[in-house]
Amino acid sequence: MKTAIVMGTRPEIIKLSPIVNSLNKKNSIVVFTGQHFDNQMSLNFIRDLGMRKPDYTMKLTKLQNSTSDRATQISEMIGSLAKIFSSTEPDRVIVQGDTNTVLAAGITALKCNIPICHVEAGLRSYDWRMPEEHNRIAIDHISNFLFAPTKLNKTTLENEQVHGKIFVTGNTSIDAVEQNVKKINLVTMNLPFSDFVLVTIHRGENVDNRSSLISIINSLIGSKMDFVFPIHPRTLNRLKQFGLYNKIKNSKNILLLPPVGYFEILYLMKKCQFIISDSGGIQEEATSPHIRKKVLVIRKSSDRIEAVKEGYSELVGTDTGDIIKAIKKNHDLIRLPHTNPYGSGNAAKKIINILRKNTNF
Ligand code: UDP
Repeated sequence: MKTAIVMGTRPEIIKLSPIVNSLNKKNSIVVFTGQHFDNQMSLNFIRDLGMRKPDYTMKLTKLQNSTSDRATQISEMIGSLAKIFSSTEPDRVIVQGDTNTVLAAGITALKCNIPICHVEAGLRSYDWRMPEEHNRIAIDHISNFLFAPTKLNKTTLENEQVHGKIFVTGNTSIDAVEQNVKKINLVTMNLPFSDFVLVTIHRGENVDNRSSLISIINSLIGSKMDFVFPIHPRTLNRLKQFGLYNKIKNSKNILLLPPVGYFEILYLMKKCQFIISDSGGIQEEATSPHIRKKVLVIRKSSDRIEAVKEGYSELVGTDTGDIIKAIKKNHDLIRLPHTNPYGSGNAAKKIINILRKNTNF
């Protein structure tokens, strides 16, 4: 019995690493779609996380910045995945999260009659502007096994009457932190600040929109705090396109970095006072027992509502004044709960045990 694991972006690699690393090479295949084609955002993570080299790596056509980009990319992935699935004949396909890779692998598996296992099922932002929301809803409704990180995610799936079986497992992002957190002792980073706030921003609704991006950047420049800001390639492109790059680069309280590796981001999360981010994964990782940091979420809605409810995350929005106010408040006082909304690091084990019990895994 063979399992195919399909992944294409940085967060999928990180969150699937605890599963891939516990599978036997003989009865599994790993497919990398190359949705994140930059090594700094993909293959370096596969190496650092001790994962085996993918059995198949695709080379997708470079995006043309046109309205049909996403559809073209998904169709290209489907074409290649169909060939891989027909030659390898997997008995199940595992995907994680909400990317175009997940949607493409899901549709291909569905049409090839291969059962789909969705890791991180049931997340919703109820924000239809987000392409991730389209992908999540679609994959959840065609999956046979749905691994929901929390009870709330399970309830969402039950209310939507998905047809697959639902299991609550915690999030594998926490497993990855717990398995790798010791490696931060090996990290050396020369930072000009001893006290700083970590910033990551990359969501389309924030960075593709000129006025949102200006508002966010002005809040950092206008704040009295110091910031360390590893820049996602998409954000870098937009900063340059909107003429904001030099402004932020020349500001003395912001250290811009290229995207950093997994151990470096864990190091920065551990060392910082708090985090400003629109990342889903970082909101989860910040709750893990070895990190425990507050995240000011630069979004109007969140698909990680458990972190907001329990007090790890605060939804701040994108208005300059609101962000500056939230930074000031959290500089003065941070209180965190002693709960683990996304589990304590055994989600991958639970997922594998469930597959063993319910299938010929
Ligand atoms: N991350 C990283 N280096 C960085 C920024 C983020 O390794 O410079 C990690 C982060 O810890 C998390 C994942 O990348 O595990 C999140 O990816 P991203 O924010 O791009 O996507 P999202 O989670 O929002 O889907």
